[in-house]
Amino acid sequence: MALIVQKYGGTSVGTTERIQAVAEKVKKFRDSGDDVVVVVSAMSGETNRLISLADAISKDPVPREMDVLVSTGEQVTIALLSMALQQIDCDAMSMTGGQVRILTDQSHMKARIQDIDESRMREALSAGKVVVVAGFQGVDEDHNITTLGRGGSDTTAVALAAALKADECQIYTDVDGVYTTDPRVVDSARRMEKVTFEEMIEMASLGSKVLQIRAVEFAGKYSVPLRVLSSFEDGPGTLITIDSEENMEQAAVSGIAFNRDEAKLTLVGVPDIPGVASKILRPISDKNIEVDMIVQNVGLDKKTDFTFTVHRNDYKKAKAVLEEVCEKLGAERAAGDNDIAKVSIVGVGMRSHAGVATKMFEALSDEGINIQMISTSEIKISVVIDEKYLELAVRTLHGAFDLAQEH
Ligand code: ADP
Ligand code: ASP
Ligand code: MG
Repeated sequence: MALIVQKYGGTSVGTTERIQAVAEKVKKFRDSGDDVVVVVSAMSGETNRLISLADAISKDPVPREMDVLVSTGEQVTIALLSMALQQIDCDAMSMTGGQVRILTDQSHMKARIQDIDESRMREALSAGKVVVVAGFQGVDEDHNITTLGRGGSDTTAVALAAALKADECQIYTDVDGVYTTDPRVVDSARRMEKVTFEEMIEMASLGSKVLQIRAVEFAGKYSVPLRVLSSFEDGPGTLITIDSEENMEQAAVSGIAFNRDEAKLTLVGVPDIPGVASKILRPISDKNIEVDMIVQNVGLDKKTDFTFTVHRNDYKKAKAVLEEVCEKLGAERAAGDNDIAKVSIVGVGMRSHAGVATKMFEALSDEGINIQMISTSEIKISVVIDEKYLELAVRTLHGAFDLAQEH
């Protein structure tokens, strides 16, 4: 008999009929003798709807109250799924994050899990029940409700699997696994049998929303066997595995990620003297704005252009800060661009293959796509381009690295 943690995402519980279908699926596992803990998201669109209600009332809602609001979506689905299970004679019990006692730090809207009390879940499992836990939420030590950041139900599932030492954590979603790139953008994207934790962490952090990055980090750290599967059809899905020799032999590039959530800012004509980079970025970080890519070009006239990217939500705030910095440093002007996108190729095989970057840049230039910024690490290369070429760039690179074929 195995202990399985299953997570069903928003689309999978998007209607009452779908919730009933999830109940049938859970019951099958239960009938075959497995113990099952189910984590659910809010019904699709619900979290966005709740956020827009807050937006209508306040420009800058207090984070504590935002968490009280957005955590309600998951409370609805745990109750409905438990009822659906009881209706088909499968004993079940719902639990909120606070009822389990998923203890987090106090960072509202991006809280980190610190501890999980598994005793109430174990008690319910021993009584023969399916335990249905609300994803995305926890409580801090003062009993305030917290949430784990968008897509956080994935992290709840992995964290529960780690705490309960489950045999597998299964993430059920609206695609049947992890693909070489978003299958909604490239028709020929291919489902991967396996992907390494290392690659999956890069893919997630570079924009592949199929798994929340923290969930993958957590699974890697605690060696939780993690699989992504379809809610709607049977199949093997994709297993996230630890790095192996075998993987080192594989193709240079295994996947392509992209992200439309960034904006670019440039300070033009900055005097090229020591300390300038920190003078530009310090006031940005003082406003709690995270910086992603950074590029500095030195011109011949002892002046430099300093470019960096931030989350699009922070663009206006960052631009205002940069305008002040511009004046202080005696730079020429502060410029910005909201219509950019970042495309990244990812693969552990890149370490042992030369010429991957050249191939990437050539493929983009053959399509007339201009590269505005570049950043690299051992297993990824990212470029910033004009947003209007994003889909073309992803398709082009998918073809150039022959990702539709298994290697
Ligand atoms: P859920 O609501 O179940 O958590 P998400 O919308 O968060 O589902 O994640 C699933 C979506 O991730 C898919 O519908 C797909 O469009 C997108 N996606 C992005 N990149 C990939 C990828 N490499 N492989 C599979 N899906 C991807
Ligand atoms: N409902 C939350 C969100 O939409 C959490 C999740 O679905 O994972 O971000
Ligand atoms: Mg998700």
